[in-house]
Amino acid sequence: MSVLSYETRGEIAVIRMHSPPVNGLGLDLRKGIAEGLAKAAADAAIKAVVLTGTDKAFSGGADIREFGSPKMTASPSLHEIIDTLDTSSKPVVAAIAGMALGGGLELALGCHCRVARGDAQIALPEVKLGLLPGGGGTQRLPRVVGVQTALDMIVSGAMLPAAKLAQTKLFDAVVDGDVVEAAIELARRMDKPRRVRDLGVELPDAAAFFAEAREKVKKAAGPLPAPIKCLECVEAAATLPFDEGMKVEQAGFMFLLNGPESRALRHAFFGERACMKIPDVPEDTPLRPIERAAVIGAGTMGGGIAMSFANAGIPVHLLEIDRQALDKGLAVIRRNYEQQVRKNKLTAEQMERRMALISPTLSYADLAQDDLVIEAVFEDMQVKQKVFERLDAVMKPGAILASNTSTLDLNRIASFTKRPADVVGLHFFSPANVMRLLEVVRGEKTAKDVLATVMKLAKTLQKLPVVAGVCDGFIGNRMIGKYAGEALRLLDEGALPQQVDGALERWGMAMGPFRMNDLAGNDVSWLIRKRHYAEDPKRRREAVADRLCELGRYGQKTGKGWYRYEPGDRTAHPDPQVEQIIDEQRKAAGITPRQISDEEIVERLIFALVNEGARILEEGIALRASDIDMIYLNGYGFPRHRGGPMFHADTIGLAKVAQRMREFAQRPGADASFWQPAPLLEKLAAQNKTFN
Ligand code: NAD
Repeated sequence: MSVLSYETRGEIAVIRMHSPPVNGLGLDLRKGIAEGLAKAAADAAIKAVVLTGTDKAFSGGADIREFGSPKMTASPSLHEIIDTLDTSSKPVVAAIAGMALGGGLELALGCHCRVARGDAQIALPEVKLGLLPGGGGTQRLPRVVGVQTALDMIVSGAMLPAAKLAQTKLFDAVVDGDVVEAAIELARRMDKPRRVRDLGVELPDAAAFFAEAREKVKKAAGPLPAPIKCLECVEAAATLPFDEGMKVEQAGFMFLLNGPESRALRHAFFGERACMKIPDVPEDTPLRPIERAAVIGAGTMGGGIAMSFANAGIPVHLLEIDRQALDKGLAVIRRNYEQQVRKNKLTAEQMERRMALISPTLSYADLAQDDLVIEAVFEDMQVKQKVFERLDAVMKPGAILASNTSTLDLNRIASFTKRPADVVGLHFFSPANVMRLLEVVRGEKTAKDVLATVMKLAKTLQKLPVVAGVCDGFIGNRMIGKYAGEALRLLDEGALPQQVDGALERWGMAMGPFRMNDLAGNDVSWLIRKRHYAEDPKRRREAVADRLCELGRYGQKTGKGWYRYEPGDRTAHPDPQVEQIIDEQRKAAGITPRQISDEEIVERLIFALVNEGARILEEGIALRASDIDMIYLNGYGFPRHRGGPMFHADTIGLAKVAQRMREFAQRPGADASFWQPAPLLEKLAAQNKTFN
């Protein structure tokens, strides 16, 4: 199928792009546009051209499928097409419906006039991939919408409806009806091209304006270089001749394209798309309909999960063990919604509509017609067994039975039913109505259509699903266990919680391990440790962490944990009592504390993640390294500009990572087996390869 059509309407040529899904500017489409423009130029009967797309998209920008391939820069490039427009003697009018994003908007800016439908979505979102608009967008947009608006749009990448920009020179007309007809009308009236590059930029005191803007952008950008580069380009547009500005844009684009931050952000972008693919589950696998759901347990997780369904407009039963627990769970849900209403994120009416979608119940019989049930009761195999036996007895055939367990063996849970193929793990993260990550745990017997259905459901719930195999802790928590264990080793050796957290947070983690534990509740990991101690009596005891829990220091919820908290305030204050406990433990173990550098703290914790990640990958628990990265970016506050632990290790070089691990293994008192590089890591390092 051709990606483009060419037709004439009297003296007007209409070039219509229709390359699904969004008219991405891939090589075929670029060639088509160039040929269409050449044909119109050569036809003496043609006076002007209209360039348009479909109802859904003028163009969504660069074709992401070409990223990294030679096609991306092959001739004709977007630059070459825009140059052709610039030198065209016949006027070209862009007719925009749907979206004009990134390169798509730059293409429109290369045209001489633009007509848009009011609801068309307009943006230069390159900054979100750590880049800047490299097709002249930074130079042309300020000339038509003004410096302030252009700067805001380019630095934030935010999307605006065309109607909001109707008063600017970006659009010659914003219409409700047929954009192509309006554009043809306009093209008929035009006698010569009007190039955006020839427009001036009005800004009386550029120096003062950019000095102030630079401070703001710097503050918001944090460690990312792209927003500042965007600003420099807009500054060039305001202060330099057009061609000089274009050179600044090109240099900035190349700088960012080759920088680690943009690589990491692009990895995240592609990684999120890759997550959806399960090699042995065909994309056209028939799905089971999910129109009604149920959640068992209205505690921390169950309440949030029920909210996720209600937010997506799916009716959900919420079942508890007794009236009191049910009322308590519902009250928490209502409080959460009320908070959103107070923050103007939700109207009172929306809140009531969502509350009405949640039907509380104490009776399993009420769930009989539901399509999917998610169990979120206590993390205790016996309790889960009872629940799954009941579900097996009452749920209709074909219903999906899911567990939100964080650590328990999903295959065993499935074995409590006569339909293990219908059982799957849906591991939400807390708070479940907010966190985007969803680990989808694939049991030995989980059916393919069950997997395909829950992957699709995750999207409906606005979650990012990542498939994990069955093991203790699945992907995310199994890795975090090693990381948290290493954080405890650092305390033994001489660091304090605030130093460990500070080092990791300065490096970019949203929260250091001790603050994170205080937030999640130290009793949660204590419970898991006690199970581990029982399973393996030789397992190392975490004396300091256990002691804290014995003292009831569960974290924020008890006002004390690794830190001290003032009532109603989440600020973590270092606590001398904790330092004393750590000190006593060091003395008992005969350890003389030493100074530990931030660099060592970061390396040891992050490499602990990487080594376990490598094992998880090798065991096939994760389908691909980028899945592990997506889990860390979306569930554990790993800095996005570092791309995730596996990508970060790739960036450093696996040989170097393995070498550092061997050095850690040789430290006096170190656990040499812990720092033995995983076989996959060794292998890839020896072959000079990467995880991703
Ligand atoms: P919670 O203690 O807050 O809630 C559990 C709820 O289940 C309670 O309200 C309890 O009354 C109810 N319940 C217990 N037995 C029941 C039964 N037989 N029938 C119906 N209801 C019953 O626990 P939580 O933190 O919400 O954890 C629930 C599950 O989610 C656990 O498997 C846990 O490992 C997992 N999980 C927890 C987190 C987290 O951060 N808290 C994150 C991911 C997964």
